[in-house]
This record gives sequence, C-alpha cells and structure tokens, in this order.
Amino acid sequence: MRITVIGVGYVGLVTGTCLAESGNEVTCVDIDQNRIERLRRGVLPIYEPGLEEMVHRNGAEGRLRFSTDLGAALENSSVVFIAVGTPQSETGASDLSALWSVAKAIRGQAAHGLLVVIKSTVPVGTNRELEERLNRNGQFLFETASNPEFLKEGHAVEDFLRPDRVVVGTRTPEATRLLHALYAPFLRNGKPFLVMSPESAEMTKYVANAMLATKISFINEMANFCEKCGADINDVRQGMGHDSRIGFQFLFPGAGYGGSCFPKDVRSLIAQMGKAGEPSTLLRAVDEVNEQQKGVLLAKVREQLGDNLAGKSVAVWGLAFKPNTDDIREAPALVLLRGLLAAGAKVRVYDPKAMDNVREVFGDELEYALSAPSALKGCDALVIATEWPEFRNPDFETMRRSLRQPFVVDGRNLYDPEQMARMGFVYSGIGQRKVPLSRPAQAA
Ligand code: NAD
Repeated sequence: MRITVIGVGYVGLVTGTCLAESGNEVTCVDIDQNRIERLRRGVLPIYEPGLEEMVHRNGAEGRLRFSTDLGAALENSSVVFIAVGTPQSETGASDLSALWSVAKAIRGQAAHGLLVVIKSTVPVGTNRELEERLNRNGQFLFETASNPEFLKEGHAVEDFLRPDRVVVGTRTPEATRLLHALYAPFLRNGKPFLVMSPESAEMTKYVANAMLATKISFINEMANFCEKCGADINDVRQGMGHDSRIGFQFLFPGAGYGGSCFPKDVRSLIAQMGKAGEPSTLLRAVDEVNEQQKGVLLAKVREQLGDNLAGKSVAVWGLAFKPNTDDIREAPALVLLRGLLAAGAKVRVYDPKAMDNVREVFGDELEYALSAPSALKGCDALVIATEWPEFRNPDFETMRRSLRQPFVVDGRNLYDPEQMARMGFVYSGIGQRKVPLSRPAQAA
C-alpha cells in the first residue's frame, strides 16, 4: 500500500518506518525542512533503540522516503496518517493548530479521495470535526479514522511491531478493512484488533494514559507517607502487588511522571471533562500530586545539605524523562536542575543520550560530564533521576571515594538501603525506611 505519514517526530517516524518494514511504500512528510534534509542523509532527530538501522535499511530498499512536498506524497497514496504534535495550550486544553493546518493542506493539495487517519492524541470529537473541515466544499472526498498510538518511548519500535492491541475508530467497513490489512502483519501473535467508533478510540487513548498516571501518583503519595510512618514502600509493594487484582506494573515510586504524553494528556482530559460539565476531581489530584513529587529530590538534597546550596556541588545522573530515550520534555530532572541552580549549587550532569537536549536548555549553567563516574568527583551529593541500566550496578567503592560527601539521593530506588549504609553512604530513596550508617560516612 502507498502511505503518507505527516509529522516526523517520535510517533510519525516510528509509524512510517514500521509500515515500510512490513512492505508498504511510505513517504514521511514534515514542515521542518532541516529535519527532512537530515533524515535524507540518514541522521535521525530522536534516539530510539533499533530505529536508526530500520530507517537506513528501508530507505536503501526504496520503501521509505522523506519529503516536505505534501502534494506529491498524497498523489500516490490511498491512506494518510497524521502524527503531528498536539501540545498543551495555556489553558491546559490540547492545542490542535498543527492538526488544523495539516487539514487545510490536505484539502488544498489532495487530488483524489483519501482515508485520513489521526494517530496524534486528540480530544474526543476531533475526528468528526476533521471530517467536516476536509469535506467543507460539499463533496465527500475524505473519510477520517482514529488510530491512537500506544507506543512507549524507549521501546517504540518493539511496541509498534508487537503491540498489546491495535485500536481503530472507524465509521465504514472499507476503512476498517484497509486499516486491518495494514496492521495484520503486526498482529500475528494473536493480539486484538479492536474496532469502535472514532469517539471511543479517541477516549481510549486518554483513559489509558490517565490510568497509568493515576497509578504513578497513587504509589508516589503512598511512598511519601511510608517515609513518614516508618514503613518501606518496597515491602508494601510486595505485599500489595501479589494480590492478582492489583499486580506490580506501573507501581514504582519515583520523582513523578514526565514526558510528552502523561502530563499533557491528563490536563487535556481534565479540560475536556470541565468543558462537558463533568469536572474531574480525581485527575486534578493526580496532576497536583505529580507536580509536588517533582520537588521531592531537591527537598531531600536540602534536608541533608541545607537550604542554601552555595559552595556545594551536586552530581545528577539521568536527565531524560525515562531510560532509553533522549526526550527531556517535562522530565522531573529539569525541575531538580532549576531548583539546585536557584539554591546556588554547582551542578554536574550525566545522561547517556539526553546531554545535547539538556545543553540546549541550560547552556553553560551546568557542567557536562563525559561519563557517570566522572560526574561525581568532589561532589557533595549524587542524585539519580532516571534509571538508565548503566546506573544499576556501579563500582560503589569508587563512587564513595569520588564524592566529597558520600550522600546519594536515589529517585528510582535502584540500590539496597542496607547495603548502601554498610558501604558508608548516606542514602535516601523514595518511600524507603532509613537505615543508620554501619560505617562512618566519610569519603576515603
Ligand atoms: P513530535 O513533537 O516528536 O513530532 C511532531 C512532528 O510534527 C514534528 O516533526 C513537527 O515538525 C511536525 N509538524 C508540526 N506541524 C506540522 C505540519 N503542519 N505539517 C507537517 N508536519 C508538522 O511529536 P510526537 O511525540 O511524535 O507526538 C505526536 C502525537 O502523537 C501527539 O499527539 C502525541 O500526544 C501523540 N503520541 C506521542 C507518543 C510519544 O511517546 N511521543 C506516544 C503516543 C502518542
């Protein structure tokens, strides 16, 4: 099948590449000329495990092209996927301006009828409005469908190739058949192809993200109380998660959720519900808990080193909003960095993939280390904000010797508090019970 994908970000690039991988001819179109030129030279705008190799291979085999010329791309296509950003506006509602500008371009440049599929996360009712806007001249040329994307950054290629489910919102059997034919190669493992109305499909995406965000805020709030009452969230998770009605997934305490989806999708749903006269109490609390949680790492640093951090140096490991991505949008680490700098600290950072993106925001306000161990030298604290695999088993002895004060704030509970205390670290995780030092807390 010939396909156009509009918007070549995380979702568009992964979608286009994976659809090419299954034998389709795909043209990925973006308004960002620089992005398209770099992609033509094989330079990807994002880091995703496995993606670069697939882009190069499908490009070399002639199934994947990059262009800024929408009209030419549409000429040969029977289906178009829209994957442009739908960021949060000032009011918290979704900003659909990119989507509407794409709608105008399709209407102006398509020479024949098309199935237009919205992959971007959009408020309920957007598909219907898009269909109205596309067919405004009275002739019904364009049908729309919803196909929300559930990929996880850092795991995006794998999620697209082997999805838990595919959700489509369609109004005609033809649209359903076309989308089923496209997705069948990815559903050979028996996972479901779920067909529903566009409204239900749009809603499904928000509800899934709101549920995941709710789990995170729930466990974070419980973790904070564990610290106050002498319980340990790791033990509590075990006791709770073995209940098969509850389980363990997405119930890890941390420094709050970030990224380009959960924060804006929760707020968009709050805005949609408010507009419909069904204001949400629960989701407002989820959002509020998350905002507070982003301050937890700084509070722990201050508890140990004092409110004024002038003259103190702090190392931060992990800046991306989660491991295996270079995405720093709404990352809890950014809140921590701003807080540390405002309190007067010198901050040295390390992240395996997100350094360039952080440098764009903070410039020379930070020091950038070349490796995790080299970030530690002479620092009064190490704060871990993202659980990259390489942080899981460091050389603790070298870590202790490198730090001026062996103080570790672990925002992802990577280490065992008792072992850390035995090795001479003052160690503070999230929701873990305090273990007194069993050897002097001094750097050697
Ligand atoms: P992104 O910001 O990485 O990419 C968006 C791309 O769209 C950019 O390359 C931009 O230049 C391009 N664009 C903007 N206006 C355009 C126009 N008029 N014509 C052509 N291209 C245009 O966004 P993303 O993270 O891929 O997210 C896209 C959508 O998918 C959003 O609605 C998001 O909520 C949703 N989503 C994202 C993820 C994720 O993990 N990132 C997961 C599921 C769903």
